[in-house]
Amino acid sequence: MTTILIRGARILGGAPSDILLRDGVVAETGDLAGAAKAGQTVDADGLIALPGLVDLHTHLREPGREDAETVETGTQAAARGGYTAVHAMANTSPVADTAGVVEQVWRLGQEFGHCDVQPVGAVTSGLEGRQLAELGAMADSAARVRVFSDDGKCVSDAVLMRRALEYVKAFGGVVAQHAQEPRLTEGAQLNEGEVSARLGLTGWPAVAEEAIIARDCLLAAHVGSRLHVCHVSTAGSVEIIRWAKSKGWDVTAEVTPHHLLLTDSCAERSPLGPYNPIYKVNPPLRTADDVRALREALADGTIDCVATDHAPHPVEDKETEWGAAAMGMIGLETALSVVQEAMVETGLLDWAGVADRMSARPARIGRLAGHGRPIEAGAPGNVTLYDPSVRQPVDPSAMASKSRNTPYEGLTLPGRVVATFLRGRPTVLEGKLV
Ligand SMILES: [Zn+2]
Repeated sequence: MTTILIRGARILGGAPSDILLRDGVVAETGDLAGAAKAGQTVDADGLIALPGLVDLHTHLREPGREDAETVETGTQAAARGGYTAVHAMANTSPVADTAGVVEQVWRLGQEFGHCDVQPVGAVTSGLEGRQLAELGAMADSAARVRVFSDDGKCVSDAVLMRRALEYVKAFGGVVAQHAQEPRLTEGAQLNEGEVSARLGLTGWPAVAEEAIIARDCLLAAHVGSRLHVCHVSTAGSVEIIRWAKSKGWDVTAEVTPHHLLLTDSCAERSPLGPYNPIYKVNPPLRTADDVRALREALADGTIDCVATDHAPHPVEDKETEWGAAAMGMIGLETALSVVQEAMVETGLLDWAGVADRMSARPARIGRLAGHGRPIEAGAPGNVTLYDPSVRQPVDPSAMASKSRNTPYEGLTLPGRVVATFLRGRPTVLEGKLV
């Protein structure tokens, strides 16, 4: 099998160390000057080594919207971003709400994936919020689904949410809720506040998110189950999650890179001009106060992890007027750079913290045993090499994703993923797909 010697990488930002990958695992770390005989050598002088990143929230769009993304292109984008595993959201066409569809996505991942693809199962049939999907059958399937989500839609019916939380306990699953009270967000376009008022766009109130999170924390506690909160976007949500955790309840949460960096003012003033629907996303970009609270919550662990909510859309669905445009942004290829900008450059997280929030914790929440392990002898050979010293403008045309809807065009961001290794084999070398 492949043997690769990584020379002089700073594991989690520490002192330079060699890393020997052999037979799919980390065979040895330390000063391995004597071990240079076999295989390939990768010079990692000045590079940081992180455990391969894990995304809990990726839209790969296949089956059904292969014009936006496929398992192949989406996982290429993931590998380029330093990811070795992604959770594929269930809002495909057909919806991933049966053992058959999750196994189809899982097989596509096995065949075409540039990283591991772990399907997420829908909570309700057809994401319709009327009856539970075949949760047990998806858990027992070859895809071994453990994360269930109607993402894109909220499981707004409290009784269905309670039943889902009760059901997944049988196999150690988790319900990942897209918290959006539907009646409070009818026609909503942008965070409800000063900017939405000035732009004349229908407001999307913070309470629509916070009310569902509060209810679901109470439900999870009531039935003794595990809740994961998707893409937390408001300071109030952070307070509720902090309170739930202080009670000892089994609640985890994620934040997206874009909610850590951008605000609703982008819709008014940005390098790309006002009313640019590139900034239209669900949940919406919020205020600078919310961004501050989200960063602090990620730093202190109230928010467990960063998840991209990579949401590719073809040009015609985004380059239209604000009200008609699709919601969502791509994010896999820029996530680590945005986290460096928002969290590392600000002194809120060190590289060990980044590894914890972008690899270890998401792997644990998603029950991915082969990912998120420290880079030490015996661990799976999942490693990302990252150069934090460069700064470069974001170039959508250079991305591997099939879609181009990145909100960072026109911005200069730090860092570059130089190499990604999946079970000891490179998926990216010198910044290029292998
Ligand atoms: Zn969502």
